[in-house]
Amino acid sequence: MSDKLDRLWAPWRLEYIKTAVKEPDGCFLCEAIEAGNDRDRLLLHRDELVLIIMNLYPYNNGHLLIAPYRHIGELDDLSTDELNAISEVTRKAVRWLDKAFNPHGYNIGLNLGRAAGAGLPAHLHWHVVPRWDGDSNFMPVLGCVKVISDGLASTYDELRKAIEEEGG
Ligand SMILES: [Zn+2]
Repeated sequence: MSDKLDRLWAPWRLEYIKTAVKEPDGCFLCEAIEAGNDRDRLLLHRDELVLIIMNLYPYNNGHLLIAPYRHIGELDDLSTDELNAISEVTRKAVRWLDKAFNPHGYNIGLNLGRAAGAGLPAHLHWHVVPRWDGDSNFMPVLGCVKVISDGLASTYDELRKAIEEEGG
């Protein structure tokens, strides 16, 4: 990444490092599910068994998390229906991200356990990270200066528009 991009993204990563060193008291996924203000919580989509929420500390624009509603941390705790729902919603998330931001590729996966990098190991969540050639082409979409202050809300609104146009 260029120095300019490092500076733009560094504040979020720094905040993440500050909060990640201590065990979180609550569960941001369960809190978002229960809060009832989906846009404020960046909760993008509620499916029957699973949800899509935006990552507050994104590696890239449009970085989404897919999680079951149930607060479970082991793969064996997932029902087959939940496992299938995660796959189905992952497909939807990619379709909506394609429509909203036209990425060139995706990294999709699960960090299982804190040693593997899971920030919240007690509540399973899969990452969907859009990728662009050079990972800089997304900048003009939002405008460089606005990335930090308005980036997440703008991304949320763009994705909600794509979801509504596709009929949810
Ligand atoms: Zn939870």
